[in-house]
Amino acid sequence: MQKLIEGVTRFQSQVWPQQRAYLESLAGGQKPEALFIGCSDSRVSPEIMTQTLPGQLFVVRNAGNLVPPYGGARGGVGASIEYAVAALQVPHIIICGHSDCGVMKATLAPEHATTMPAMVDWLQMTEATRRTLAENFPDLQGQERLDTAVEHNVLMQVQNLQTHPAVASALLAGRVQIHAWTYRVESGSVLAFDTQDRQFVPLQDLWGSTAGRPSQVGRSGIFKNPLK
Ligand SMILES: [Zn+2]
Repeated sequence: MQKLIEGVTRFQSQVWPQQRAYLESLAGGQKPEALFIGCSDSRVSPEIMTQTLPGQLFVVRNAGNLVPPYGGARGGVGASIEYAVAALQVPHIIICGHSDCGVMKATLAPEHATTMPAMVDWLQMTEATRRTLAENFPDLQGQERLDTAVEHNVLMQVQNLQTHPAVASALLAGRVQIHAWTYRVESGSVLAFDTQDRQFVPLQDLWGSTAGRPSQVGRSGIFKNPLK
């Protein structure tokens, strides 16, 4: 806990003064550039990954970066999505999975999660991924199997996302774009789903380098990681 308290103190004494004008301006409201749906895993930091500041990402995190389909389980995920899309009018939604995801491991080996009833219940939403892998990729093993599950899971959540009325309406109006990403914990690389080639490719291959041209998500370059 001491580490966290020291971090708060450092934020207040060093970071806040450096970014005072920007951070104080946030008191007037938020206009985030994206809704970021990621895993709760402590190794996956949306803000550090995208080099964004407070006010720039509207973040939803849960175990497995899951999006319950509309009309299923009520809860904070649907309400957060609705608020981000309908009220804040974010132009982008990113669903980001990651390598070595514990929820995906539990999906592939649910027998290890039986002592966690809430997780067993939550894993019902990853059943499509488990079944798809079992029936369509029976020969995949180890790392490759897990990576494929992570990617398939992200794509399933993209589908679930579109069942939410606010998202469906915004998509039809062309007001929002959905992006499927995976983050590699071991390298920091980000893969994005290429809808033409139907596979995950390095993000920069899909969007081009951020140097000299606008990035679709975030405003890289305006601030240099002041929160690190
Ligand atoms: Zn995870």
